[in-house]
Amino acid sequence: MKKRWAWELLNESDIESFSKDYKDFLAKVKTEREAVKFIKSEAEKKGFVDVFSKDKLNKGDKVYLAFRNKFIALAVIGEKDISEGFRLIGSHIDSPRIDIKPVPLYESFGVAMLKTHYYGGVKKYQWTNIPLALHGVVALKDGTVKEILIGEKDDDPVIVIPDLAPHLAKKKQGERKGFEIIKGEELHAVVGNKPLKGEKEEKDLVVKMVLKILKEEYGIEEEDLVSADLTLVPAIKPRDLGLDRSMILAYGHDDRVCAYTSLRAILELEGVKETAIAIFVDREEIGSEGDAAAQSRVLEYFIATLIEKANGEYNHGKLLKALTNARAISADVNAVINPIHKDVHDTQNAAELGKGVIITKYTGAGGKYYASEAHAEYVAWIRKILDEKNIPWQPGLLGKVDEGGGGTIAKYLANRGLLVVDMGPGVLSLHAPTEIVSKADVYSTFLAYKAFYESS
Ligand code: MN
Ligand code: MN
Repeated sequence: MKKRWAWELLNESDIESFSKDYKDFLAKVKTEREAVKFIKSEAEKKGFVDVFSKDKLNKGDKVYLAFRNKFIALAVIGEKDISEGFRLIGSHIDSPRIDIKPVPLYESFGVAMLKTHYYGGVKKYQWTNIPLALHGVVALKDGTVKEILIGEKDDDPVIVIPDLAPHLAKKKQGERKGFEIIKGEELHAVVGNKPLKGEKEEKDLVVKMVLKILKEEYGIEEEDLVSADLTLVPAIKPRDLGLDRSMILAYGHDDRVCAYTSLRAILELEGVKETAIAIFVDREEIGSEGDAAAQSRVLEYFIATLIEKANGEYNHGKLLKALTNARAISADVNAVINPIHKDVHDTQNAAELGKGVIITKYTGAGGKYYASEAHAEYVAWIRKILDEKNIPWQPGLLGKVDEGGGGTIAKYLANRGLLVVDMGPGVLSLHAPTEIVSKADVYSTFLAYKAFYESS
């Protein structure tokens, strides 16, 4: 099995210009809500319209369905009837992060703190002592929804989860196991240290000051935080990494790198044989549960709507036929070999940074329980598409057999009868506040997705 450098096969200025666009996207899109908003607006610029605004669908039409601000699906209608087959690329737009609890504020020894609950598979100690930004919405009883974004502009304040000084950590943290160096209930963030003046009661003056700011700047009371989707994400800009600028260090490559590359691929399509669909789902990091996640029936709803609008009526048999005739890519990242910790990988079967998009035949670990595995014939068909266009790719598995592992949305697509394989770029420092990708891998992923949509 010979791996080739993606840098040798692809045009360097194409890689660089795509990477620049990707970094701009990462800098402004850090939550699923922001992703749906961005995708919708980019799609509209390219002529996509809300599927419910159309009475009839014809080949070449471009439509979308946006759902609860956390799921969006795009489609370019193909020449063939959708029940004869469609192409789907599914990525997830949530990333590991630190969510704010419904009653988050308290004051202790003069410091106002926010209580949190981490989201997804994080090594909790990595989230201390880095600048964090507050993103999300607060919904009020009168129906208004206030958007909150603090910590992204250069002159914005940031928020931080403080760690313990090494001088005092010898016993308390030194004797704990690695994953427990910081525990879940120790992920509290600092939000203030100035008392509100002129209050009769002397209690919690620093929290009162924070609440006064929230009231004045956003019209929010403490109780409103109960109906909020608020989260802390790294307030760190995407940067070129390495003296050769070959990589990008940024928050949220998993899985916005696949969201962005599949978005770009579908936006560039003109005149496809089989209907091309891209779905962008929420909550993959916590098991794809929920109304806007890969297990939700909203996917069927979208396909059913396409069938109804193309044929003038809905037919359940056609929906099932469409799903079982469909070919899909579960667009997600894989972990590349970490040169410092190569012992956790079967290096013969693991992927390397810079060697192209990764075909992951199966996910899961230890006995393949709960794994999604692509059929041999389907992997061969994908391989042929990539080789015909000279797109760099490599096979990859996540870790050694009994070392641990992870899943993607692949199995939820497979459960519906779609042919599916996992394919996406490799990431180093997966799930860390800043993750690493190769620019050449990102570009080869875009080319792979586009080739998948366009192939016959
Ligand atoms: Mn992922
Ligand atoms: Mn992940």
